[in-house]
Amino acid sequence: MARLHVETIPILRDNYAYLLTEPETGSTAVVDPGEAGPVLAALEQRGRRLDWVVLTHHHHDHVAGLQEIKRRTGCKAVGPRGEYSRIAGLDLTVAEGESFALGHAVAEIFETPGHTAGHVCYYFPDDPALFSGDTLFVLGCGRLFEEDAAAMWTSLGKLAALPPETKVYCGHEYTLANARFALTVDPDNADLAARARKIEEARERGEPTVPTTIGEELATNPFLRADSAPIRQHLAMRDDPAAAVFGEIRRRKDLA
Ligand SMILES: [Zn+2]
Repeated sequence: MARLHVETIPILRDNYAYLLTEPETGSTAVVDPGEAGPVLAALEQRGRRLDWVVLTHHHHDHVAGLQEIKRRTGCKAVGPRGEYSRIAGLDLTVAEGESFALGHAVAEIFETPGHTAGHVCYYFPDDPALFSGDTLFVLGCGRLFEEDAAAMWTSLGKLAALPPETKVYCGHEYTLANARFALTVDPDNADLAARARKIEEARERGEPTVPTTIGEELATNPFLRADSAPIRQHLAMRDDPAAAVFGEIRRRKDLA
């Protein structure tokens, strides 16, 4: 049974914050507020209080609104234990295998090192919904700033194993560039080609491309498909470990 109501709040240039409401208790949270203004405006517009700020990792464009939002709303903040010393103002920290409750909606915590060393994702199995921060994007994944390709491949594997209907709410609108890149490494994927056309149209209309689903990503996101035969063949890496194929895809995207 779905327990969460999710609203997308565009912030900064291409970030997304998300306003979560658990309807039974009225508990509310905002995920990754990289700036305070649009989040406070959304709360005011809806006449809502705020209980929690939920953070996936320490980067400025995900946490910069935290202090002002805390000051203005009196809310608490939860974030990754591995980044406690890098995020000022955390009231609660979470790590792999633990949970975070927003009213009756309970998130399971996955540690997903790669983009940052302490990055966590929040998975609400009853909905099911995943807040993936800068680990998994629509048709992409986060850059490897603090860990290597093998670590990120393992992290993405945790997310890929979730039920295919899981909705994925990620930290950025990078989808159009990701789609164009994906076609260069997986050019014969008909699902990807069809999806890329829809994405071009959606972005022309100014529509967000989130949420995606785990099932759609497994079918079309090259960063989850490093063990697929067509991609291996295209990259001439038929016998390499999947983590190495993933690393090559990431390297090419960094150069794109
Ligand atoms: Zn980041």
